[in-house]
Order: sequence, then C-alpha cells, then structure tokens
Amino acid sequence: MPTITPSLEILRHTFGYEQFRAPQEEVIATLMSGQDALVLMPTGGGKSLCYQIPAISRPGAGVVISPLIALMEDQVNALRQAGVAAAALNSSIQPREIRETEEALRSGQLDLLYIAPERLLQDRTLRLLQQCQVNLFAIDEAHCVSQWGHDFRPEYLQLKVLHERFPAIPRIALTATADPKTRLEIIERLGLQRARIFTRSFDRPNIRYHIHSSSQGARNALLRFIRDHHDGEAGIVYCLSRKRVEEIATWLQAEGLDALPYHAGLSADERRRHQQRFQRDEGVIIVATIAFGMGIDKPNVRFVAHLNLPKSIEAYYQETGRAGRDGLPAEAWMHYGLQDVVQLRQMIQQSEADQQRKQMEGQKLDAMLALCETTQCRRQTLLSYFGETLAQPCGNCDNCLTPPATWDATVAAQKALSAVHRTGQRFGVQYLVDVLLARDDPRIQQWGHHQLRVYGIGKELSANAWRALFRHLLLRGLVEVDSEGHGGLRLSPLSRPILRGEQTLTLRQHDNAQPRKKEKVQEIPASDKALWEDLRQHRRALAQTQGVPPYVIFHDATLMEMLRLRPLSLASLATVPGVGERKLAAYGESFLAILLNHAGRS
Ligand code: ADP
Ligand code: ZN
Repeated sequence: MPTITPSLEILRHTFGYEQFRAPQEEVIATLMSGQDALVLMPTGGGKSLCYQIPAISRPGAGVVISPLIALMEDQVNALRQAGVAAAALNSSIQPREIRETEEALRSGQLDLLYIAPERLLQDRTLRLLQQCQVNLFAIDEAHCVSQWGHDFRPEYLQLKVLHERFPAIPRIALTATADPKTRLEIIERLGLQRARIFTRSFDRPNIRYHIHSSSQGARNALLRFIRDHHDGEAGIVYCLSRKRVEEIATWLQAEGLDALPYHAGLSADERRRHQQRFQRDEGVIIVATIAFGMGIDKPNVRFVAHLNLPKSIEAYYQETGRAGRDGLPAEAWMHYGLQDVVQLRQMIQQSEADQQRKQMEGQKLDAMLALCETTQCRRQTLLSYFGETLAQPCGNCDNCLTPPATWDATVAAQKALSAVHRTGQRFGVQYLVDVLLARDDPRIQQWGHHQLRVYGIGKELSANAWRALFRHLLLRGLVEVDSEGHGGLRLSPLSRPILRGEQTLTLRQHDNAQPRKKEKVQEIPASDKALWEDLRQHRRALAQTQGVPPYVIFHDATLMEMLRLRPLSLASLATVPGVGERKLAAYGESFLAILLNHAGRS
C-alpha cells in the first residue's frame, strides 16, 4: 500500500542525508504539485534526488529518460543499494528481464524506471506507459536536444510527444549546461514553457583549475602532475585524436600507471570493458577522445587533464566537471600548445558549415583562448562567461595561488608582426622564427628574406620564447591563420595599434606546468591511513561480490566522514552522511567491526 511519505523522511532514511541542498526541496514540491520543472545545476549538484524522491514518494513509477546505458546501469545499482525498486529498459537488457520489469511496472511495484530515448519513443513502449501509473517524466541531460551543442541526440527532439500524450503528468528536465541559448532551446523543443526554472550557481569550488601552455614537454608535465598529485587516483586524460590517445595510454602504461585508452576506433566490447574498469576499480586513468564522458558519473574522479585545447568554454567546463562530483578536492589541468590554436582555427575555417556557424565557433574558441590567457582568477573568468559574478578571486586556481609574472612584450610583438608583414603574410611560425633569429633555413635565401630589415632582429629571445609570443598573438587575435590550410599567418586589423605603438602588450612570463607540490589536494592524515585502507579494502570486497563499482556501496565522502567521526555504534554510524537505512542494515555491522577494531588498537 503506497503511502505518501514526506520528502525529508525519504532523504534521511533512504539516502542517509540530513538536509536538502538548494533548490532540491522546492523542485520536489513543484513536481509533487503536478507542475513541470527545468533544473539547471552543475555536475555533482544533486540533480538526481530532485526526481527520485517525488518518484518514490508518489504512487506509481517515475520514468527517467537517460541518453547513456552505462549511466542507467549505475543509477539503478545505486538505487537498489538504497532499497529503492528501480529498473532499466534498454537494448543491453535480456528479454526475460524486460518482461519482468514490464510486469513490475504494470503491477505498481516499481519506483523508478530508466529508459533510453529510442526505446521510449517506440509505440509499444508509449502504449505500455499509458496502461501504467506514471508519476513523472524526468528528462536527464536535457541539453541533448540542442543541435548547436556537442551532445546532440536526434531522438531528444521527439520527446515533445510526452507532453502531447501525457499532458497531466509532470515533467522535469535537467542539465548541467549553463548557457542561456541552450536553456531557451530546451524550453522550446521540449514544450516546457510553463515549467518553473531552477538555477544554481555553476561554480564548482572544489575543482582547482590549472592552465598552461608551452611548445614542448606535454607528456612529461602530465606524468609529473599525476605522480606528484594523484598517485593511485582515478582520472581522465583528454586528447584530440585517436592516435594521440593510443600513444599517451601506451606511454603511461610503460611508466607503470594503470591507464586505458578510450575512443571511437575501439570495438564496442573494448570500450565497454575499459569503461567498466574505470567505474569499478579505484585508480584507473582513462585516456580518451571527447567520445568518453557523457554519462560518466563516477563520483571520485580526482583529476581531468587536457592535452589539447577544447573548442569552447562549454566543452571545457563540461569535461572538467567530471572531476570531483563527490565534492572532495579535485583538479582540472590543461596543457596546450601553439599547434592546437592553429589546428582548431583551421578546422573551423575549413569545415563545411555555413558562415554563421563558423563565426559562432570562432567566437567560442576566442572565449576559450581568453580564459587560457588571462592573468586574472580563472574561476571569475569562467563564471562570467556563464553570466555569473564571483565577487572575490577564488583562491583555488593557478592564477590565484601563484600570480603569474608578466612582461612588456610590446617591442617583441612589433618585431614579430613586422616579420609577418615583410615576408608577405603567408609563412608559418617556424619560418618566421628562423627569420627573426637569422637561422640557417635554405628557404630564406630562396625568398630573399635575408635582405629584410627584420632578418635577425630577434636575437634577444630564444626560439621557444618567440614561439610562445606567436601563440599569444594568435590567442589575442592579432594574427590569423590563413584559410589555405598551410598554417601561414597574416595580420588582423587588431594588430595595427600595436604596430603603430598606440597600444602596449603585456604577457604572462613563464607558464609553470606544475602546481606547487605542497598543495596536494586530498590528503589522508598519516594516523588515519591504516583505517582508511581497511575501509576501502572492505568496500572493494563487497563491491566485487556484487559486481558493482565501490562507490555504489559507499562514496569516498562517506568513508572520509567515518574517518573523521569514528562512530563506534550502529546508531552513530547511522548519522554518517550517505548511510541510509538499507545500507546500515546491509553493511553497518561489518564496517562497525573495522572501526571498533581500530579504536581498540589505538
Ligand atoms: P548531478 O546529477 O547533479 O551531477 P548527483 O545527483 O549525482 O549530481 O549528486 C551528486 C552527489 O551529491 C551524490 O553523491 C549525491 O548522493 C550527493 N547529494 C545529493 N543531494 C545531497 C544532499 N541533500 N545531501 C548530501 N549529499 C547529497
Ligand atoms: Zn582563482
């Protein structure tokens, strides 16, 4: 007999959390009253509970549309651990289980049903749902309706059918994509004009941002970063191409790290295996193209590294957002080079897209480059892109922690720009640097460029410094890449004030690839290490027996609270965040035994 339970009771008893986070309670109340909602919250903000609690609380089942099968499986596992009747319908599930799920749905025994959009849209499924008691529709990753976005899923465009066929059932759409344009598209395409909109700050205060550039040494910088800061921890390394993914994964393996490649060129089976290892084991590093990520809700990813420049701030924000969903300290680290800027600009120029789209992509890239180049707080710059204001510098990004030194690069820039101009605006960086340094390049004689005034006028800087300077000129849009695709540079109108001496140019001096060592982000005190390891070991054993990822048993945050609070009775263990009734009954005794054992020892 389904009774209407107050939401807070479900939060406490089923999920083991004491308080709602803003705006969870209001979203839940909105759905309970039968109204639609649109929820814009950052990754890790706690979107799932917004629909899970009303779905559990109201009679019937909540139907969740989710674009990725791996994600569904994870959510269903986690809900079952908490004692919630949850199931999924998608192409990876056996016919027998599908029949059972449909039966449970018909007889009102399910609380939550996760379903892939293509399956939902089948007429058979829609008819099934019409025969059952559905208490809400949740459309997860709602930005997949946006054709401009990078996660576009055509089936999402047809989800308006829910509104037409089930006008009385409240709908909730959720996304972590913040830009206003996508928001409007979601409302329009899903018919959510009447929905209440809930937004929360997109700040992810637990993520520390590092961005640096140089013309060499990406691999070693990455290795040092992982070894010094994230030894044995889970992370994602993003690269632009499959080839580079393979190369980096192989190299990290050879260095003794537990790294696995992930890209569209691997077989479906390999991809699944690698993803599963990442989800289930503790310290796996996935080296991936952007094909990896959407729907990864592993909460304890401790770092996301980019070995290339993302195309836009949206992409960067979404990819880095996969770190630290559990709220514990995490790092976003990026290393990019001149070649990235040239390549991305060329990709935009040479694409088949229409002029309007090219222009938009160019602007997005410019905003990304401005973020890379800023000497201000990264978080303030990031958030202002999403229309938010952060009053104070954050104190948790590279620029805040180590304010970058700057130098007056006006004269050097004039020389570099003149070199571009005098050589006819068609040569690439390598050649221009050779001219500036009067290097031995046979083409120089051939073109007669040894007679130019700019020939050899740049000896005060090294070749690397010149390359860095050209990178900055590109970043700032003072020079542009030619559209023929040879990487030749030409002046942009923005370069004139510098050439005429009407404007100065101040640049970052040296890019420091390594965060300061003493600021390792997540540190377990030495006195707690043994207990921490025992708790983790026990969690791993439980997870293995059940074939689920360890975090489905308890999150790291929950284990860390056990370390801090040292509960010595079941009653006090029950107060640890993340320990709900079902988990207390299933695992309480065994975790308590470990805690008691350590208390006796010390
Ligand atoms: P999102 O879907 O927004 O990325 P999740 O729903 O996965 O975020 O939640 C992120 C984490 O926050 C999860 O570990 C979840 O259990 C936890 N969480 C959610 N709501 C609360 C709450 N009210 N109190 C404590 N932890 C919460
Ligand atoms: Zn900052």
